Amino acid sequence: MGSAGVETQIAAWLEAPKPGARLVIRKDIEIPTPSDGEVLVKLEYTGFCHSDVHSIYGETPMDTDIAGHEGVGRVIKVGPKVLETMLNERVGIRWQYSTCGSCEICAVNPTVCPNQHNSGRDVRGTFQQYLVAPAKQVTRIPTQLKSEIVAPLLCAGLTLYSAIAKAQLNPGDWLVIPGAGGGLGHLGVQIASKRGYKVIAIDTGEAKREMCLKLGATTFLDFKSDKVEEEVKRLTNGFGVHACIVTAGSEAAYAESFKLVRNLGTLVCVGLPRLDFDLPISPFMMVVRGLHVVGSSVGTDKEMEELLDMAVKGDVVPQIAVFDFEEINNVMEKLARYEIGGRVVLKIPQ
Ligand SMILES: [Zn+2]
Ligand SMILES: [Zn+2]
Repeated sequence: MGSAGVETQIAAWLEAPKPGARLVIRKDIEIPTPSDGEVLVKLEYTGFCHSDVHSIYGETPMDTDIAGHEGVGRVIKVGPKVLETMLNERVGIRWQYSTCGSCEICAVNPTVCPNQHNSGRDVRGTFQQYLVAPAKQVTRIPTQLKSEIVAPLLCAGLTLYSAIAKAQLNPGDWLVIPGAGGGLGHLGVQIASKRGYKVIAIDTGEAKREMCLKLGATTFLDFKSDKVEEEVKRLTNGFGVHACIVTAGSEAAYAESFKLVRNLGTLVCVGLPRLDFDLPISPFMMVVRGLHVVGSSVGTDKEMEELLDMAVKGDVVPQIAVFDFEEINNVMEKLARYEIGGRVVLKIPQ
């Protein structure tokens, strides 16, 4: 209990976003009360997405003091106008905290609703024990899946699932994934290969090679030692791949991607290099090659359901590294230096 008689909780609190910012573990953060249409969720696990690091370090906009957008927990209280049957249900809290549901963009694809709110961007995120969320926007979690396994699917998995859908491939088509051994990429390798696409995984090092091939990649190219463009052309009858999903936040990866896709091919932008980096392609080349470029962030409710179905079947299994909540600052530093393989998950104090 706090001094004023309000119930309080533990949270990893941010004073202000700035380069190298650290989070403060506080025990005096108020537990919110669910309003109309909202539920109160007690979190068990949260993923720590690389984009949280960008937000906390002030590289992308953040107007709240608690980051995090891959939370899994149970509904422990329902607000007015929410069915009591939701009590004790296990749910996921995603980046898309809410959308307006009534604009012209929502009618097509609510993931880019201009009126959306985002966990850890403009509403408090999942680096805390309790949060409120709109009942109709939380994700129901199948009982077969462990909470710590689900956490990375809520953002990373969903993002790749949707990016692969946007590539509009047919079974047997070639897909190249720069950053394939990373937290995003390794999920993409699994989803795409299960869909019947031939995946060329690009990353570096023996461990990532082994992992990508084990997860279903057709082939692996090491960007440090292989002639990537030459090899991709050789594998694809000289035409290049049908689509490239850049999951690496690397300018070099984006620059190279246009050389890897075939004419009529699709580039899907997912990984985030510095925000003032522009794609290096001229309108002339776009015109003569008939290329498609599309951006992708998270995914729809339907895509989330389909991905969770895949996870239940064992078709996609995130590689996770679980840490105690108290280690959050060390984890963030390692994430910033790309020192952790797979997806980071934090255990929320119970
Ligand atoms: Zn994320
Ligand atoms: Zn909308």
